[in-house]
Amino acid sequence: MIQKSKGILIVLSGFSGSGKGTIMKELMKKYSDQYALSISATTRSPRPGETDGVEYFFRTKEQFEKMIADDELIEYAKYVDNYYGTPKAYVEEQLAAGKDVILEIEIQGALKVKEKFPDTLLMFVTPPSAEELKSRLVGRGTEEMSVIESRLSRAVEEAQGIEAYDYLIVNDKLDACVEEVHSIIHNEHFRVSRN
Ligand code: 5GP
Repeated sequence: MIQKSKGILIVLSGFSGSGKGTIMKELMKKYSDQYALSISATTRSPRPGETDGVEYFFRTKEQFEKMIADDELIEYAKYVDNYYGTPKAYVEEQLAAGKDVILEIEIQGALKVKEKFPDTLLMFVTPPSAEELKSRLVGRGTEEMSVIESRLSRAVEEAQGIEAYDYLIVNDKLDACVEEVHSIIHNEHFRVSRN
């Protein structure tokens, strides 16, 4: 009989506006017993509707730098003038409990996680076109135009690093995309257990 291996670490990255947040929410809704979602710490301000401890742990720069000094983060990176980082304790706890842990992080952090944990599965989500990316960012209306511009130029930079990822997921239809991510993770269990 094929044994299911212990929990694996999964990174889901993608351009700002790629829809990766929505994919993750759906994945958690449908398969909540299998996945644990890591909540990152950040120094950026909450968007309307975001709550401390739900989307992020919202921290001051001083608080964040103390977390770095105390070695509480698996990785951290600066993204458009703010710090973002993954708290270590929750991830370790959930992996030990056999859950697959999903980190929704940008590319620099993804590469650091892969270096520390080589079995990490790296997936990159992209919208079907550049036009679609811009219209999603403008359409959600949560950022000033100058921030949108910075996020778009960051997308161009991130595109250079895409080959480090194991899978590129084109987010055209949400449901199909969620199932694709779920089945890639499912297959990964058997690949990791053969290593
Ligand atoms: P947003 O401000 O749109 O929520 O996130 C901006 C970027 O930061 C996204 O690409 C998101 O994936 C990334 N991000 C969120 N949390 C973390 C984290 O803990 N570490 C790293 N390296 N990136 C993160």
